[in-house]
Amino acid sequence: MGCIVMKFGGTSVGTTEKILNVAKRILDEKKRGHEVVVVVSAMGKTTDELLSLANEITHEPSKREMDMLLSTGEQITISLLSLAIMQLGGEAISYTGWQAGILTESVHRNARIIDIDRTKVERQLKEGKVVIVAGFQGVDQYGEITTLGRGGSDTTAVALASALSAERCDIYTDVDGIYTSDPRSVKTARKLSEIAYDEMLELAHLGAGVLHPRSVEFAKNYDVPLVVRSSMSAEEGTMIKEEVQMENNLIVRGVAFESDIVRITVTYEVPFNGSLAKIFTTLANHHIDVDIIVQSIMDGITPSVSFSIKKEDFAETIRILNSEKEVLGYTDADFEVGLSKVSIVGSGMVSNPGVAARMFDRLRQEGIPIKMVSTSEIKVSVVVPQSEMLQAANALHDEYGLSPEDAEVSL
Ligand code: ASP
Ligand code: MG
Repeated sequence: MGCIVMKFGGTSVGTTEKILNVAKRILDEKKRGHEVVVVVSAMGKTTDELLSLANEITHEPSKREMDMLLSTGEQITISLLSLAIMQLGGEAISYTGWQAGILTESVHRNARIIDIDRTKVERQLKEGKVVIVAGFQGVDQYGEITTLGRGGSDTTAVALASALSAERCDIYTDVDGIYTSDPRSVKTARKLSEIAYDEMLELAHLGAGVLHPRSVEFAKNYDVPLVVRSSMSAEEGTMIKEEVQMENNLIVRGVAFESDIVRITVTYEVPFNGSLAKIFTTLANHHIDVDIIVQSIMDGITPSVSFSIKKEDFAETIRILNSEKEVLGYTDADFEVGLSKVSIVGSGMVSNPGVAARMFDRLRQEGIPIKMVSTSEIKVSVVVPQSEMLQAANALHDEYGLSPEDAEVSL
């Protein structure tokens, strides 16, 4: 039997009791005959606590020192878990990112993994040990410790699975799989048995929080089968892979939503003496993440471009637009707050026209105004008032037959 990678998130290793529980699960998997590599996150809210400690000292911390600080969280978990496995009679060894050969680019707080030297990990696996690797961290070519961005342990796990040609990568978390929507807000949401990489990638980017988007990208590029499952129960989770059967001919597989969106509208005179590129380049240089962009040029109406950003970037965006007004060459800038984004995702859209039309029609029937629209091959997103976000999500979940009572009906 081959190697498998098991990853446990912060809540799953939040207490020593939970760590002992995780150790049992690992040893069960080992008894089934697998070689086992384990990746863990920091215990519970440790990373947040470390961040607030730094925040008590400075609001502009050195990124290098933050990586020194944040990487300690995972180191606590690996050693405790290794001790727990030994206590239960197993053999284990823990490694930090650099000990496990995880080489990253030379960027602090958001580094990408470039290469993995698997020599050490493989040697320990051959000796029959469970190898426990600290998630979310690596080392750059100068020997500096780097971290991979919040939630980055998922990416460590998938990258190791790919480097070791593992059979699969199991992500153990506090939910039991990927749902058609967030069950806390959409009561009829249900667990999916499988989902395609591309759909999961869209959902992860749309804020479906369960997986680090980069880990899904990695899994897709290197064809690593991923399973998301609960660390508390033995229930089967959701398998994420390349080819997936659409259940009951459903076109949409999930509904995602995200609050705190702001729409900015910039108007200008014709001929436009600035340029659109200049506006977006300037914002990009300040690391402002612009999402949907809509430009309208029509006879008799002042030309404008609208774009959406996250609320956390609002103050900075306004500051940049104001201070660079001359250079950017626009006449007026306006904004609308209190918005949200609701999206439908499904690879079935590629071959089924009219999916967006149906979405707009349902929202019209619900009396929900659409402020902006954006589409990809397998996604349609709309910006709607935040006060109507959950109504929209529930209505669309129903519209595309995702609720259990509809699941038998073929569309
Ligand atoms: N501990 C890190 C975080 O909280 C990494 C992770 O959990 O994946 O973001
Ligand atoms: Mg996570």
